[in-house]
Amino acid sequence: MVKTMQPLIISRKGHSISRKQVNPNALRTLYRLRDYGFIAYLVGGCVRDLLLKRTPTDFDVATNATPAQIKRLFRNCRLVGRRFRLAHLHFKDDIIEVSTFRAAAPADEVDPDTDTEGTGLGKKLPRHLTDDEGMVLRDNIFGTPEEDALRRDFTINALAYNIVDFSVIDYSTGLSDLEERIIRLIGDPFVRFTEDPVRMLRAIRFAASHNFVIEPVTWETLCVLSPNIFRAAPARLYEELLKLFQFGSARPVLSLMDGSGLLAALFPRFSQWMHEKSNHLTLVQTNLECLDDLYHSGMPSSPALFLAVLFGPSLEEETLVRHRDGIPRQQALDNASAIFRDEFCKTVCMPARVGDRLRRIIAFQPSLHRMPPRRPAVLVNRPEFADALAYLRISAVTRGEHRPALEWWDAFLSNVPSVVCPEQPNNVAPAKRRRKRRRRRPHSVQVAAPP
Ligand code: ATP
Ligand code: MG
Repeated sequence: MVKTMQPLIISRKGHSISRKQVNPNALRTLYRLRDYGFIAYLVGGCVRDLLLKRTPTDFDVATNATPAQIKRLFRNCRLVGRRFRLAHLHFKDDIIEVSTFRAAAPADEVDPDTDTEGTGLGKKLPRHLTDDEGMVLRDNIFGTPEEDALRRDFTINALAYNIVDFSVIDYSTGLSDLEERIIRLIGDPFVRFTEDPVRMLRAIRFAASHNFVIEPVTWETLCVLSPNIFRAAPARLYEELLKLFQFGSARPVLSLMDGSGLLAALFPRFSQWMHEKSNHLTLVQTNLECLDDLYHSGMPSSPALFLAVLFGPSLEEETLVRHRDGIPRQQALDNASAIFRDEFCKTVCMPARVGDRLRRIIAFQPSLHRMPPRRPAVLVNRPEFADALAYLRISAVTRGEHRPALEWWDAFLSNVPSVVCPEQPNNVAPAKRRRKRRRRRPHSVQVAAPP
C-alpha cells in the first residue's frame, strides 16, 4: 500500500546525505530558489543513489517556481520539453534540470508557456493529454510536492531532499523499499505501466543495476503488459535500451527482459533465435557478461558495439546460412543486416549510422581473422577498427575462436602504441593522415572557370 497522508520526514541526523556529496551547481540552484522564497528539493534518482552510497548520474531539482519564474531567476536557463516542460540550467561543466512540481490528475487548466504570472489567465491548452488507451502524451499540470512525488514511477525514485533543513521526505514507502531493496510502482501498476510503457524497462534497469527485486504485483503486471511496449515512442526506447545494456548490468537485464516477455515483444525474431538452441542462449549471455566486464574495467562500449555483442551472433549465423546457399558473403551480410534493421526499427528508433556501424563491425571480422592480415596499418586506421577488435576479443572468450588472431593483433598494436592502446579497444587515437602537399600557384596564373 502507498501512503498518501503524512510524509515521513527524516531529519539531517537520521540519514547519511551530506551536502559534500551534492553537485555544487545543484546546490547553488537549490540555495538560489530557497533564497527567493521558493520550495526547492533534490528529487528522483540522485536522492535514491546518495542514500545507497552510489554516485548519482545526475542531480534533479523540483520546485514550486513555475518555468517562467525559474527563467527569470536564472540567466543560464533554457526551457525545454513538450511532454514535460522543464528548465535546463546551463553551467560551465553540466546542466541541472529543474522541474515545477506536477500533479497527475488531468484538469482543464492554462498553458504554462502563456501563464507567465501564474494567474491562470493564459491561453487555454490541454496540459494533460492521454491517448485512447490511457498513455500520457502531455503532462504539465502543476501540483504540490506530495502530488509531484506520487506521480513519479517507483517508490525509491520519489524521495526528496529539502534544502531548507537538509531533511529527507518520503511520501510513499521509498525509504523502507530502499532498505529492503524492492522496486515498487507507485499506485496501480496496471494504470502506471499503461500511462507510460517505458516504466517497464525502467523497472528492469533499476532491478538489474541496483540488484533489487521487483515487487510481485509490479512484476506480474509488467509481464502481462509487456506486449504493449511497442506503444512507447521509438526514440525513448532506443535511449532506454542503451541505458539498459551499456552500463555494466547487461547480463541480468537480459534475464529480466526475457523472463518478462519484453525481449520477445521488442525483438520477436531474435528472441526466437536465442531460444532455438541452448548454445545460442549461452552465447548471448556470455557475450553480455564480457560486455559488463569491459564496462567495469573502465571501457564503456559504443552503441554499435553493444548492438553487435547482443545481436551479432544471430546476424553472423544468418549470414553464414545465406553464404552456404551460394550468396557472396558481403551480400549475405547485407541481406541479414537489412532484415535485422527492419525488425529492430519497427519499434526502436536506431540512428542509421549506428545500424551501419554494426554491420561494419561484423563485416570487419574476416579481415581481423586472416593471418597474417593484409595491410594491418591501414585496417587500424579504419573508424570501426576499435569496435571490431573489441568484438573479436569478446568472441575469442565466448566461442574460443580466433585466439591466435587476437594475439597477433595485440602484439602488433603493442608496437604502435601511439595508434591504439590494446587495453582499451574503444580508444583509438585519430588516424594520422598524410597530408598531400599543395603546390602553390603563382598569383599571376589564372584559374580557368568551370564550364
Ligand atoms: P538514473 O540513475 O538513470 O538517472 P533516475 O531515476 O534519476 O535514474 P531519470 O531519468 O534521471 O532517472 O529521472 C529522474 C526522476 O524522474 C526519476 O527518479 C523519477 O522520479 C522520475 N521519472 C523519470 N522517468 C519517469 C517516468 N517514466 N515516469 C514517472 N517518473 C519518472
Ligand atoms: Mg537521474
